[in-house]
Amino acid sequence: MDSNHAPQIETRLFINGEFRAASDGATFPLKNPATLEQVALVSEASVDDTNDAVAAAKAAFPSWSALSPYDRGSYMTRLADLILENEKELAYLEAISMGRPVSGYWDAKASAQKLQYFATCGWNAQGTTSLNTPGFVNMTLRQPYGVVAAIIPWNVPVYFFILKVAPAIAAGNTAVIKSSEKAPLTSAKLAQLIQKVGFPAGVINVLSGHGHISGSTLAHHMDVRLLTFTGSGRTGRLIQQAAAKSNLKNVIFELGGKSPTVVFPDADLAKAARESAYSIQWNSGQVCMANSRIYVHASIADEFIPLFKERFQNVAMGDPTDRSVNHGPQADEIQFNIVKKYIELGKRTGELILGGGGADAKEGSPKQGYFVEPTVFTGTPEDAQIMKEEIFGPVVNINVFEEEADVIQLVNATEFGLYAAVYTRDVSRAMRMATAMEAGTVGINCTSPSGGFDIPFGGYKASGIGREGIHHSLENYLETKTVLMNVDSL
Ligand code: NAD
Repeated sequence: MDSNHAPQIETRLFINGEFRAASDGATFPLKNPATLEQVALVSEASVDDTNDAVAAAKAAFPSWSALSPYDRGSYMTRLADLILENEKELAYLEAISMGRPVSGYWDAKASAQKLQYFATCGWNAQGTTSLNTPGFVNMTLRQPYGVVAAIIPWNVPVYFFILKVAPAIAAGNTAVIKSSEKAPLTSAKLAQLIQKVGFPAGVINVLSGHGHISGSTLAHHMDVRLLTFTGSGRTGRLIQQAAAKSNLKNVIFELGGKSPTVVFPDADLAKAARESAYSIQWNSGQVCMANSRIYVHASIADEFIPLFKERFQNVAMGDPTDRSVNHGPQADEIQFNIVKKYIELGKRTGELILGGGGADAKEGSPKQGYFVEPTVFTGTPEDAQIMKEEIFGPVVNINVFEEEADVIQLVNATEFGLYAAVYTRDVSRAMRMATAMEAGTVGINCTSPSGGFDIPFGGYKASGIGREGIHHSLENYLETKTVLMNVDSL
């Protein structure tokens, strides 16, 4: 799909099964980060709209939760089929809103697979029974919460939409999801597909808008019983405060990272360089688990660093709707300026050995747009701001270490704990590192974005609360009720 065959873009809110403009007519502009042209004016959900969406979800809850898992799942299976049918359009919408290259767009397939799995998993909502209290038959019931709110980021929007909404509705909850203001178009497209499937009105409501107003209204809402969020730690803290100030709603958080990769002398250096370079370059570094700190043993640094830099020679930076491009722009001007700020800070503390430029970087680069070249620093002090804070751009620090014990300390000297990786052929060392590194996921001889379909994902420390995944997410959306039944005659 190209701009000559651009689809009609949906930009409205989807509330109680119908599309509508914001109650006060408010919209916000969405700019293509590669061309800087305006793509759409998107509806900005008001407090009233957000309240309406929650009310619709609340009204839909009794009948949706009363359906059998099979009936709920059959809607979901149809949605998975439509997502696959619309893969090209979804990729195109992401490219023009937040700059994801259409080449290598895997989100639709991965989302459809997750949805197909969750379509069958409602059957797993089961409690336990116990005869261990004399005179009693005791049991637990697993029941949905009611209205679940989901707030998602912009970097992998369709995937996060499904990862949150699918298990929530499979468990019998109803949902209000708010897309990111940087990437609202695919969520609105999914709303169209939800309508086409014929989900009962109010089961899934889709809002677009900023954190303030609609995100914050959901976080404070007394009828939202659980809020599942993927985004920055800053917003996570605001949501947790809002939950505390309102109804103490449960929260599930997938937050940011400052992920380390450690390379020992006995590693396959070419593989380590190839994978760790891809980790920080994919999606222009806008990935929560991207390895942004690389620790290389001093004895192999001179060999590793050229191998690493070489991986960026063939990065094709340009219009993300062009299939030959594999490096798009940063999502918007705000992200672009944040990344540029960190590059300037990095120049003051470490040595810039590659990149640092933008759209005007070299001959053949795009002439405009929020582009940032893959950028590499070495020798940056551990306490420098760019070693501590999440940049969310294609910027990596490579530092050296001498001893295993030292590198463990360096790796763990962060408030984040999302993903850590180690490259070594020594199995004992690999397991020592895996045990010692404080991260929700550890890669041995692999790094992010490597994952597994059936493994949990989530963060240690300030990188999150809870775990998500096909075997874990259903649990997140079910309350446990204890029922004590006194049966004297037993
Ligand atoms: P963000 O926190 O700025 O925004 C995320 C969402 O929260 C958006 O929809 C936004 O509108 C909303 N929001 C903002 N303020 C709010 C408020 N006060 N109340 C309620 N909602 C509010 O994050 P982002 O820039 O969209 O995404 C990047 C961040 O997400 C990075 O920190 C990244 O590491 C993290 N992330 C984490 C994971 C993970 O799985 N751990 C995955 C992707 C991204």
